Amino acid sequence: MDLWTQALACLTWFLYGSFFEWVSHRYFMHEKRFPLYHVFHGHTMIHHQIYKGENFLARGPGRPPHVMLRLSSFPLILLAHLPVFLLFQWLTGLPTLWGAVVGCTLYYVSYEYMHYLMHVPRGHFVERFRWFRFLREHHRLHHKYMLRNFNVLFPLADVCLGTLVTAEGWRSKPARRHRTLAARKKRPGAGRTPG
Ligand SMILES: [Zn+2]
Ligand SMILES: [Zn+2]
Repeated sequence: MDLWTQALACLTWFLYGSFFEWVSHRYFMHEKRFPLYHVFHGHTMIHHQIYKGENFLARGPGRPPHVMLRLSSFPLILLAHLPVFLLFQWLTGLPTLWGAVVGCTLYYVSYEYMHYLMHVPRGHFVERFRWFRFLREHHRLHHKYMLRNFNVLFPLADVCLGTLVTAEGWRSKPARRHRTLAARKKRPGAGRTPG
């Protein structure tokens, strides 16, 4: 029973990871916020500048710079979440702490591994899967349209929060999309469905 509860907690906190990833990517990696200026600088000003356009894939031998997050990121994220995990366990009375820690760790490790392979193809077996190719294209579009596709690993939050794009075009560009929709609304008869 405890094992099933921990497994369910692991899955639940993994799903939560998608929303945590979305919020931290949207509001800390793409916006300057005190005291995490270095997070914005490292991601928007360095990672996005190096790996854009034709340079989305790192070429050449050796380990390319500025693909992975700082080593301190994971311990800090986990430490910040521990009181939340404990509070959740205490409030529900269910043994969920270790499930939560495992779910959080799985999400973070998978994020780092997948994001690395998206930019630095190494011929690993996961690169052959269709879902990996979908995620790599999803992330390539994020590097093109920075306010779209904030999820790297699991785009659940992108779907729920309306930031998912799967192709290039006007829908992917927030400003142009806004202008196009506004122009459509002004046109007489706009928005009506025929019949
Ligand atoms: Zn990237
Ligand atoms: Zn980004």
